[in-house]
Amino acid sequence: VSNPDSAREPAIAVSDLSFSYPDRPAVLQGVNLNIYPEERVGLIGPNGAGKTTLFLSICGILTPTSGDIGLFGNPVVVGEFRPEIGFVFQNPNDQLLLPSVWEDVAFGPQNMGMSEDEVNDRVQDALSLTGVEMLAERVPHNLSGGEKCLVAIAGVLAMRPQLVLYDEPSANLDMRYRRRVINFLQTAQQTILISSHDLELIIEVCDRVLLLDEGRIIADGTPQQVMANESLMNAHGLEMPHSLRLHHQ
Ligand code: ADP
Repeated sequence: VSNPDSAREPAIAVSDLSFSYPDRPAVLQGVNLNIYPEERVGLIGPNGAGKTTLFLSICGILTPTSGDIGLFGNPVVVGEFRPEIGFVFQNPNDQLLLPSVWEDVAFGPQNMGMSEDEVNDRVQDALSLTGVEMLAERVPHNLSGGEKCLVAIAGVLAMRPQLVLYDEPSANLDMRYRRRVINFLQTAQQTILISSHDLELIIEVCDRVLLLDEGRIIADGTPQQVMANESLMNAHGLEMPHSLRLHHQ
């Protein structure tokens, strides 16, 4: 076997996935991809390419029109809660619902039926990994956008997922919080898939990039291979990132 990956169980296995919203043209058109444990993969593409739809399908929120999705060898069942899969929404307000940060981060492990000690351990750990222990007693609603983003990530980490999907993790962050999120992602222990228009973030965090357009995977390679291909990027409504441009001169 020449490909060493073929012996491993993919974290995400998508085959021939198509999806249409009712009475609309197909948004995903035969997507095939395998993502292996410990990979950090960036998903790029213009607005409307189908990135969010692909994420919602992988998370079991949308029912595919056709095709198969497996996570760690088990098929995705729509509506089924899989604690090993985390999803960080683009807007942290969609995720932060309880009266204190501590309670919010504890919600996942509590729902998984963990003992109080285990819940406390996990909350402590998650707040420390994201560097927001000092916010534990705060009201999530009153936090800054950057603080909310880190707390939302902590809430997902508290479930100790093996795979985390991030939808636009740096959207609306100032430079300081964007840096904190990048630093966190670079050291994160999970398999990660990040959808983002922040190509520099993807270059810093990911070892592999998928380019999606019109519901199809157009390119799959290292950030260099995909993003330094200026004509490919331009053909799909994307600009080659500045850091790669400098590299090439
Ligand atoms: P991206 O995340 O890459 O911007 P989306 O997956 O959000 O792309 O959208 C892909 C296409 O599906 C777009 O044309 C969008 O208008 C359409 N779309 C997204 N959500 C819905 C919906 N709930 N109902 C109908 N069409 C939708």
